[in-house]
Amino acid sequence: MKVTVFGIGYVGLVQAAVLAEVGHDVVCIDVDQAKVDNLKQGKIPIYEPGLTPLVTSNFESGRLVFSTDAAQGVKHGELIFIAVGTPPDEDGSADLKYVLAVAETIAQHMDNHKIIINKSTVPVGTADKVKAKVSDTLASIKKEVSFDVVSNPEFLKEGAAVTDCMRPDRIILGTDSKKAEEKLRELYSPFNRNHDKVITMDIRSAELTKYAANCMLATKISFMNEIANLAELFGADIEHVRHGIGSDPRIGYQFIYPGCGYGGSCFPKDVQALIRSATKVGYTAQVLESVEAVNYKQKEKLFEYIMSHFDNDVKGKTIALWGLSFKPNTDDMREASSRVLMEKLWDAGAIVQAYDPEAMEETQRIYGDKDELRLMGTKESALNGADCLVICTEWQVFRAPDFELIKSKLAQPLIFDGRNLFEPKRMAEYGFDYYAIGRGLSV
Ligand code: NAD
Repeated sequence: MKVTVFGIGYVGLVQAAVLAEVGHDVVCIDVDQAKVDNLKQGKIPIYEPGLTPLVTSNFESGRLVFSTDAAQGVKHGELIFIAVGTPPDEDGSADLKYVLAVAETIAQHMDNHKIIINKSTVPVGTADKVKAKVSDTLASIKKEVSFDVVSNPEFLKEGAAVTDCMRPDRIILGTDSKKAEEKLRELYSPFNRNHDKVITMDIRSAELTKYAANCMLATKISFMNEIANLAELFGADIEHVRHGIGSDPRIGYQFIYPGCGYGGSCFPKDVQALIRSATKVGYTAQVLESVEAVNYKQKEKLFEYIMSHFDNDVKGKTIALWGLSFKPNTDDMREASSRVLMEKLWDAGAIVQAYDPEAMEETQRIYGDKDELRLMGTKESALNGADCLVICTEWQVFRAPDFELIKSKLAQPLIFDGRNLFEPKRMAEYGFDYYAIGRGLSV
């Protein structure tokens, strides 16, 4: 089928590559000329496991085309995806300017029936706004062309995006058009063979499903962080508690890891956006407000431990930091906990010596050249002469380090672990002062 994807970000690029891989003809349109040029030269703008070979082979076969030519894109696709960003605006609501700009562009260039599919995460009612934008634009240029708008939210996880798109848990289709539904079922049929994963519903429910999913996941994290903070105060160990509650199938083991807060491009902005949407219909989303507040505080947790350990004075101290990305297997730094920590440490006069397997370039892009930030080539060199080690992201390569080496390189055996990677008892045997989340201090 002929497909066009507007927005070549984490969602658009992965979705486009996966659709091309199963044989669809996909044109990707972005306003970012440099991104498009790089893609044409085989330079993939993001780190995502398995993505590079998929993009390269489908680009070479001609099934995946990159362009800034919106007219070409609209002409090509009978199915047109909107996968542009919906960042928070000043009050935390989702900013729809990119989505509506694409809707207008589609209307300007369309000459035959199009199915416009919204993949961006958007507040309930956005499909109506997209419909109105397309209709108004068509009217203003005196064109009469029919179209459908479908809500098809994306549930991929960064770090596993290719696998998630190849083997989705569910495919949500919010539509009032049987014909559009059939077309989308056909489009997704290669990913829907084992059992029917398509769940159809009205458009508003589909839009809300995406927010509900992300808010539920964020709630699990903030809930566990709250219990971890209590465990610390009560002298309990959150890791025992986690095992204890996860064994109840109604709770389950997934997504109940305590840590130094959630980040990324989705949870923080989607929780905020649903809170703002709720306010607009006169409802106070109390649970979500608490989820956000707990997370905000949790991101300061490591800094608080560090300050308390060093008697509130880290001026001139060198802090080794392992992990910059908001989670493992991505280079995404949006809302990463490491950023809150680094910025607080810099304000307090410390130097950060950091290593991340994939997010160093992105960190450099965000912070530029800065005396207080040293980006190091290996996790070992990040330790050189540092006063302590802090872990912000649970990359696999950090899970079983050489503790003797760490000890020999640090000025003192001191670790602040924001992801509970190690056993406090074992760390005490190694001779470390070890701070983790909700486990007490092992000294
Ligand atoms: P992104 O910022 O990585 O990419 C967005 C792309 O859209 C950019 O390349 C930008 O240049 C392009 N763009 C902006 N305006 C455009 C226009 N008028 N025409 C063409 N291209 C345009 O964003 P993302 O992370 O891929 O997220 C996209 C949407 O999907 C968001 O609503 C997000 O909430 C949602 N989502 C993201 C994820 C995730 O894990 N990243 C998962 C599910 C859903």
